[in-house]
Amino acid sequence: MKRKGSIVFKLSLFISVMLALLVILTSLIVITISRGVLDSNVRDFLISTVEQDVSTIRITETEENRTENIYYPYGEGYIEIDMDFLKTVGNVYAAIYTGAGEFVYGELPVYMVEPFTYTYTYVYNHDGVRYQVYDRKIPVVGAEHGELWIRGVVSKQQSEAQLGKIISVTLLFVPVLAVVAMAGGYFLMQMLLKPLKEIQQTAGQIASATDLSKRIEIKRDDEIGKLSGSLNTMMDRLQESFENEKRFTSDVSHELRTPLSVILGESEYMLEKECEKEEYAEALEVIQRQGRKMDTIVNDMLSFSRMDQGIENYCFEKTNLSSLVRDVVTECGKWDRKGIQLSSEIEDDIYVSGNAFLLERMTRNLIDNAYKYGNENGHVDVRLVTEDGYARLSVEDDGIGISEEDRDKIFLRFYRADASRTEEGTGLGLSMVSRIAELHDARIELQSEEGKGSCFSIIIKIN
Ligand code: ADP
Repeated sequence: MKRKGSIVFKLSLFISVMLALLVILTSLIVITISRGVLDSNVRDFLISTVEQDVSTIRITETEENRTENIYYPYGEGYIEIDMDFLKTVGNVYAAIYTGAGEFVYGELPVYMVEPFTYTYTYVYNHDGVRYQVYDRKIPVVGAEHGELWIRGVVSKQQSEAQLGKIISVTLLFVPVLAVVAMAGGYFLMQMLLKPLKEIQQTAGQIASATDLSKRIEIKRDDEIGKLSGSLNTMMDRLQESFENEKRFTSDVSHELRTPLSVILGESEYMLEKECEKEEYAEALEVIQRQGRKMDTIVNDMLSFSRMDQGIENYCFEKTNLSSLVRDVVTECGKWDRKGIQLSSEIEDDIYVSGNAFLLERMTRNLIDNAYKYGNENGHVDVRLVTEDGYARLSVEDDGIGISEEDRDKIFLRFYRADASRTEEGTGLGLSMVSRIAELHDARIELQSEEGKGSCFSIIIKIN
């Protein structure tokens, strides 16, 4: 047997107790019913025998001397008893008595002096034997004759012996059935809980080997199968976030290493030798630039981790995208970069459900990239229009464009196309755009041609 605390043990104990109770209850019902049926059979046979005997008795004025009849003097006449009168049949005995208790004819298994009663039937005990008795008054015409009774008696010994057999068979079977029920319950539970054991084993393997790629095999379509499915989904999420965490740490440390080594190298060089004031200023500028880059990376990574925790961290509400984009365009229009001209076409009052801070950041990142990778004295066009219940925000430039092979990769964290290496950047801007779009259930479209320019569009549902 299992340990006391195991579910298998508890459930099989519970099932066994329930089944044992059921068997005992059923046995009690069987015994009660059998007893009732046996009693009523005996009683019915007793009554029908006595009733049949009543019909064989007649009172006559004279002795008619019929040889097949028996005559007994009775009052002024005779009791005529047909030969069909049954003194004994089966276990039933019958005898005729006068109302004064005087024996007339018949046979009884026991000597009884009980007065005659009109009771239906009753039980009479004698020498430890129980008898069922039925007294029946014979209808006699003419008061001068006095009362006449038939007493039918049957011993209950035989029916009680039969009942005893039923009881002993039942009592023998109760413990046998209880044991079978217990064993059956135990094996049933073992069988039902086997998949749970497998789940526990797999979970144990995952925990001991820290192998997050392991999954529970789903062999069934029932509740346990569904539980396994949910656990596997949970493991997928855990593995994903664990790998994100790993990538995050390695990406960040990798990306921070370059500016850090520049800062260290620059400061060591400056400390080692005597420098001119201008050289110090130059070195400090480099250090400041690298410091800013590190600051941007750290801040962006923190934003990612906040976004990765889900939209619960942000307040989503009905937001006027038109005025939001207009504000960003006005602000970016003030930049004095590469002589680029910024123009816009913004439809009024386009509302979406979203977070204003994130939407603003997404728009600014796209415009910033358009400036960064745009041509000297080129153009950047920002458009916000509605189409089929969606808002389309597009930022178009006439800059360096993106090669076909880079088009998918540029949305990955820290990815930068070779052509852009000369520009300052962290490779996090577009992955931020993509994550913000994802949080808003928005879609990104990119059209680009190398050397001609790019157009990034965000398609978001209107609220
Ligand atoms: P960053 O601009 O800091 O390098 P992003 O994630 O914003 O990082 O962009 C990733 C890469 O995608 C850039 O390095 C650049 O190669 C490419 N890219 C983004 N926007 C444009 C654009 N408008 N035109 C051409 N290339 C672009």
